[in-house]
Amino acid sequence: MVSVPEFDVIVIGGGIAGVSAGASLAAKQKVLVIEAESQPGYHASGRSAAYFAPAYGTAAVRRLTVDSHRFYRTPPAEFARDLLKPRGSLFLARQNELGLLEDLAANQPELERMSLEAIRAQVPIIDSNVSGGLLDLNGGDLDVHAILQGYLKQLRARGGTLQTDVRVLGLDRLGEHWQVRCGDGLVASARIIVNAAGAWADEVGMLAGLAPLGLQPKRRTACLIEVPEALNHAKWPMCVGIQEDYYFKAEGAHLLVSPADETLSAPCDAQPEDLDIALAIDRFQRVCNLPVKRVQFRWAGLRTFAPDGNFVVGADPRLAGYFWFAGQGGYGYQSAPAMADLICRLVLAEAVPTHQVAILPQLAPARLVG
Ligand SMILES: Cc1cc2nc3c(=O)[nH]c(=O)nc-3n(C[C@H](O)[C@H](O)[C@H](O)COP(=O)(O)OP(=O)(O)OC[C@H]3O[C@@H](n4cnc5c(N)ncnc54)[C@H](O)[C@@H]3O)c2cc1C
Repeated sequence: MVSVPEFDVIVIGGGIAGVSAGASLAAKQKVLVIEAESQPGYHASGRSAAYFAPAYGTAAVRRLTVDSHRFYRTPPAEFARDLLKPRGSLFLARQNELGLLEDLAANQPELERMSLEAIRAQVPIIDSNVSGGLLDLNGGDLDVHAILQGYLKQLRARGGTLQTDVRVLGLDRLGEHWQVRCGDGLVASARIIVNAAGAWADEVGMLAGLAPLGLQPKRRTACLIEVPEALNHAKWPMCVGIQEDYYFKAEGAHLLVSPADETLSAPCDAQPEDLDIALAIDRFQRVCNLPVKRVQFRWAGLRTFAPDGNFVVGADPRLAGYFWFAGQGGYGYQSAPAMADLICRLVLAEAVPTHQVAILPQLAPARLVG
């Protein structure tokens, strides 16, 4: 009889969610992380804009982002230094959008009001049809490569295993254990499954016989454009349309520009559409005086949301030993340290920090089970 490798926890998905959860759990559990692609972070986690935006997302998302700040400023030994470098974000409004700016100012009074002159002093290419802005000084650029590598190093240092090039095809409950069947014939067993499959999370739920939670993968596109060196763009804040209909930020020698698209998609290896690139450039040029001669590089990825925009973290009420760690949307990196800590505590039935207790019902998979 062939022996089946046994683990305490099998995490499905090797993006930032699965790798960070696996690394946290490996401190106390024997962990296997399974990734279908040949490298971790191939999908959404390799395609982000790498920004830390504490004012972005629902209240629960913002809580977990703020709770991740300390980790990024003073990371553990396995991680590189300087994971988070300060860069403000500037929400821009045209005349007909000033009402939205007021709404944001009322919700987040800590943001600094900016006149067009003040905006141009920071980002000289802004066009005169921008009427005002709000500056959030708390954001920053994340070194997402170093973050993923840090969690991988931590996973291995703690005795955890990452298996790439292996797709999970079946999940069977055998007594107190789960048996995981994979594409290459690998079979492994564990008491606990953590579903961190990003855009595929509902599909991985179905492998265990669970009806979908209604997770929605949405395509987002980005591209890099040239910017004259003389503009000294490296220190510009990230600029975001108040309707979240575009954003741009410095990315090395270039500007990263996105139309902030949210096109529903099936789970897939998302590719940029010409129309979305054209939209990115058009929206950029509506607010900026900078001719775009050439798009240097383009990509797209899937941001996966629960219908209410909150993360999906915790035990499935329908099946013992099955946990969800999904719906990271557009916030998977900025919230990763606090999220990894949270899923670890929920799996191990340990106490959750007091200030996070109130958000647990907003994150619980049970809220999405019909
Ligand atoms: C253009 C863009 C900009 C973004 N900007 C930011 C930003 O500035 N800041 C921020 O915090 N976030 C940002 N995000 C969001 C962030 O990238 C995601 O929230 C995060 O990467 C999601 O991580 P994940 O691990 O859940 O998903 P993924 O990285 O997609 O990982 C899921 C993995 O599961 C694997 N998988 C699926 N099914 C199986 C199976 N059956 N067996 C084995 N493996 C399987 C997949 O191969 C995949 O690698 C952005 C995303 C995009 C696309």
